Amino acid sequence: MTKSKIKTIGVLCSGGDSPGMNCAIRSIVRTGIGEGLNVYGIMKGYSGLLEGNFIEMNASSVGNIIQHGGTILQTSRCPEFHDPEIRKEAFHILKRKSIDALIVIGGNGSYAGAYDLHQEHGIPIVGLPGTIDNDINGTDYTIGFDTAVQTAVEAVDKIRDTAHSHARTFIVEVMGRKSPAIALHVGVCTGAENIVLPSEDLQTNQIATDIKRGIKRGKSSSIIICAEGEVPGLSYRIQEELKTEHQIDAHVCILGHIQRGGNPSAIDRFVASRMGYVAVKSLLRGKTDKACAYVKGEVVTVPLKESLGKKDKYLPQFIDLARALSI
Ligand code: ADP
Repeated sequence: MTKSKIKTIGVLCSGGDSPGMNCAIRSIVRTGIGEGLNVYGIMKGYSGLLEGNFIEMNASSVGNIIQHGGTILQTSRCPEFHDPEIRKEAFHILKRKSIDALIVIGGNGSYAGAYDLHQEHGIPIVGLPGTIDNDINGTDYTIGFDTAVQTAVEAVDKIRDTAHSHARTFIVEVMGRKSPAIALHVGVCTGAENIVLPSEDLQTNQIATDIKRGIKRGKSSSIIICAEGEVPGLSYRIQEELKTEHQIDAHVCILGHIQRGGNPSAIDRFVASRMGYVAVKSLLRGKTDKACAYVKGEVVTVPLKESLGKKDKYLPQFIDLARALSI
């Protein structure tokens, strides 16, 4: 049992959902109850917080959810939360519900909101990295990444069957508006001939050269993995340029939201379960503005402030690796 001043905690999911969020919620609820805390689930992220949409949780509330994607608490995007006056209102709602500390499961945006709320009103907060993009500073891993990559890899394997049978080139678009992580991993794991990342100059000439070189040495298919990028339509642009400038026919397949759902992988369940436990324990040890992070195989807490930015040094050597192995 805890001697901490914290008696009641709230947990919410915010931003895009990711497989493994339910495992994190289960871990937080059961660790909290084990410590004698009252635990409230806050529905629909910061929007639900502002509506006072709270549910008191018990051990059974999180039964039979560990294997399910999505989040039983649901999630949302809440533009109003950028406004300090609205965050003040959120703080008063938490106070009225006697919630002493908050755990926020989400990505960069959700962390920014959590950090502002803590800075302005002092409420203890711990963030859990829940995003398929694996792009949060200070952590080697974010909950949902492994499942999303696996889903995309399975899809590309199927596409490769058709590409091979019909001797075709496919451009497969994976998620990642700003983050290259999914595209890099899927590219390496599917033996892609090329990987196109967000915010990089499009090198259609290079792609065409690689496809032609492959055909020359007897390859029957080419797969180009393309991160969706911030401006929609990148895959179609590549398709168009390959056709008009290099007379190469390519088919586009956009994987889309299938990458966000589905049963979490064992890795996602394991990391999420560990992080939920550490999050509650760290609040009870008096930590007030932390984020759970996976660093060299250990779950640790790091200052929330240091987790705010996006990971920018994302292993460009993976591109070289994919190209080296797909000659
Ligand atoms: P993710 O957390 O997955 O990155 P978003 O970027 O959409 O998703 O952010 C989720 C929510 O977090 C936003 O809808 C908003 O409510 C809140 N948020 C994002 N950025 C900020 C910010 N700078 N200040 C306050 N709240 C923010």
